[in-house]
Amino acid sequence: MADEVMEGGCACGRVRFKARVEDDEAYLCHCRMCQRATGSVSIAFKHVKAADVEWLGGPDWYDSSPIARRPYCARCGTSLGFIFKEGSDSMDLTVAAFDDPSRFEPKHHFGAESIHRAWLNTEGLPEMQTQDYQKLVDKWIDATGKMPH
Ligand SMILES: [Zn+2]
Repeated sequence: MADEVMEGGCACGRVRFKARVEDDEAYLCHCRMCQRATGSVSIAFKHVKAADVEWLGGPDWYDSSPIARRPYCARCGTSLGFIFKEGSDSMDLTVAAFDDPSRFEPKHHFGAESIHRAWLNTEGLPEMQTQDYQKLVDKWIDATGKMPH
């Protein structure tokens, strides 16, 4: 796909962004800093030019180390990316923060020294869809009358 301005944001919607995306290539970062900052075994990032990101309503910034900081939402806690404090005109946005993350594909691993290998290939594990978990569906219907998307 060609250049495209894509939108995204945090879980609660307070922080929104528009970003020019040049290609479908993304990657997984497995470094311990990213694992800690996101609470995930790895984090999917899309690399973009910092000047191509327009923030609407935020973000908040976590000063995560002497060399980097991370945009996030202080209200809902969503991790939104990574940027070096100096010497770089690019940054990362978290893939799943995009409204439609489906075009992105992982092309490489970073922070490979702390990969949790048991989580890399999960193909073939039992799968269940959200709408097939009746206990959860009942809670959503009771609370809102419908399932979220
Ligand atoms: Zn939020």
